[in-house]
Amino acid sequence: MGDDGWKTQPKLMSADVKAAVVKRLIELKQEQAEPFSVVLHGGEPLMMGKARLDALLGELRQSLTPETGLHIQTNGLLLSNEMLDVLAQHRVGVSISLDGPISVHDKFRVDHQDGGSHGKVIDAVVRITAHPDAKALFSGVLAVVDPESDPVAVYTALKATGAPSIDFLYRDGNRTNLPYKKASVDSVEYGAWMSKILDLYLADEAPPVIRILDDMIRLLLGGRGIKEGIGITDYGIVVIDTDGSIQKNDTLKSTYSTADRFKSPWSVLRDRLSDVMENNEFKSYHVSQRPSSATCKSCPLLDICGGGMPAHRWSAEAEFDNPTVFCADQKLLIGRMQEWIGDHKRAIA
Ligand code: SF4
Repeated sequence: MGDDGWKTQPKLMSADVKAAVVKRLIELKQEQAEPFSVVLHGGEPLMMGKARLDALLGELRQSLTPETGLHIQTNGLLLSNEMLDVLAQHRVGVSISLDGPISVHDKFRVDHQDGGSHGKVIDAVVRITAHPDAKALFSGVLAVVDPESDPVAVYTALKATGAPSIDFLYRDGNRTNLPYKKASVDSVEYGAWMSKILDLYLADEAPPVIRILDDMIRLLLGGRGIKEGIGITDYGIVVIDTDGSIQKNDTLKSTYSTADRFKSPWSVLRDRLSDVMENNEFKSYHVSQRPSSATCKSCPLLDICGGGMPAHRWSAEAEFDNPTVFCADQKLLIGRMQEWIGDHKRAIA
């Protein structure tokens, strides 16, 4: 969406940067009571190659406590049995990007030969589910929503993978640059699509875990959310780029170029993560997860919706001081959940 910050980044982390990342995470583990997880994200992190990945994960696993989560988000194309062995050895959870059946997935996801990647991703899913450590290895699949697709076909295809969890992600966009196939800020293409997934899920006697739905229903029933962008639980997401610079959540890049950059030129090569987090600039970034919009603050659905992800709130006029561009979609989906909970409460009474 116009961000070109990646052009100035090295393709791979140097040995110095990798050593600094490990050092800073060890310091953070000693200085911070709250747990944290480390996610290798891309681009495509498996392009680092087996040997480099093995070395980095080995250092992280050895240096961090056994309960610190190590995860990787991958397109699956390089997820060979050898790669799976390396990931299993270091107890890394693997999430695979898969948008649905071939007609949905291959619409946007192509490999370097411009061929659809669906077949290769399914092969990777088969390999991971057949691995002796599959239970620990396979975290789930991540699907980006295409509101033009058939929700029945997507639900059926993703459930058929046997993935322990399914994550749905709305497409990047904001109130100035609308997400793919969203006609206006008041239209409900995404909410209607997710409501159909919700109906399938509620009618299914053996439904898969769908984190966004589970989280919202849990919040509606008075529980706690565990997913970023849902409810008003605060998360501290910090990105360490390949040059070692410390940046904000990279989803912010979809608003305007360099929106994910702090003004302070922090780097793991110089700065302790705990010092960064004590800085006022970091604190105001952290607080910005909570919506500032008066509409959200007085909204009866705030505890469930949370005002959406900050990147989705942006507009050229009011910057982040807006409800999410998916506000109408959220209202439709949450309304459908409330209806279902109400029906069941009446049935129990
Ligand atoms: S984005 Fe919309 S539904 Fe969500 S809290 Fe704000 S006003 Fe309410």
